[in-house]
Amino acid sequence: MIAKCRQFQVLLYLFFGLLLPAVFAAQTEKPLEKPITVQQGGVIHLQVDVSAIGGAPQLSQLTFSSGAAKHGVKALPRKAPVFLQKDQAKYNVANHSVTVETLMPIEVSDPLGSATLSLIDAHGNIQTEYPVKIESGHFRRQNIQVSSQTKGLEPEPGELEAVAKLKNETGSQKYWQFPLITPTPDCANSPFGVLRYHNGVYTGNYHKGLDFRSPMGRPVRATSGGEVKIAKKMRLHGGTVGLDHGQGLSSIYIHLSKIMVKTGQHVQAGEVIGEVGATGFATGPHLHWGVFANGVPINPLKWLPQAKTCF
Ligand SMILES: [Zn+2]
Repeated sequence: MIAKCRQFQVLLYLFFGLLLPAVFAAQTEKPLEKPITVQQGGVIHLQVDVSAIGGAPQLSQLTFSSGAAKHGVKALPRKAPVFLQKDQAKYNVANHSVTVETLMPIEVSDPLGSATLSLIDAHGNIQTEYPVKIESGHFRRQNIQVSSQTKGLEPEPGELEAVAKLKNETGSQKYWQFPLITPTPDCANSPFGVLRYHNGVYTGNYHKGLDFRSPMGRPVRATSGGEVKIAKKMRLHGGTVGLDHGQGLSSIYIHLSKIMVKTGQHVQAGEVIGEVGATGFATGPHLHWGVFANGVPINPLKWLPQAKTCF
């Protein structure tokens, strides 16, 4: 297993909780000696040049394992599919350069400390392993005084299922690229990962996106290309657009006053998909934008170098 590691050339792009996308690019023919460092709520964007072993198509998934997750969020190991990047400029049959790519999300509740990424082949065997170090996401706490009126707001039938499908089922075609486009020009005033308390009691929930302090009617833009999977007004989420960016990445835009796309439509990065509103479970006009990597809500701020923040 370790011997095979030496045959890999590894390019790792890591995103963790600093103001700019913190890019760590290590190109080596040896196994990584330093662990990949990532914050809770972050993503490990792994790109591996596997031309040395000439067997990229046989690589099927990346798994992530660590200690027991807090709050019983998810049984580990977590899996992420691996995609062969045939269409990128680097792919060249003549020089046998072949890259595989995958996104491994780190949960808000993943335990701090050591973890392992394993690249698995189609037979279920480990081809190579990468040590990972998980650091704190330094999440804030927020108490919301919930009135009896809003407290009783329940999702409509099928609402949560539609969002779960958006998170978990993405297409095989890749439409995303980093950095992402800012959905509104306004400042982000509520960060990802804030631990939610209602009337002083922890809900077991956290803020699964980024809020922008945008006025009513502000155009909302697609942060990357993709296919529209949700375009409807729902009771809890309000006016909602959900985009499938393919290969594990999807995004959601909620509380919209106006929806300007239709389900099944393909949108380009930067295209206007709706307008900011205060529909659903919202106390005032703002945009809530959520990004999911292979089924897990992640902190998207790292992919927005242009974003203004006011929190
Ligand atoms: Zn929000």
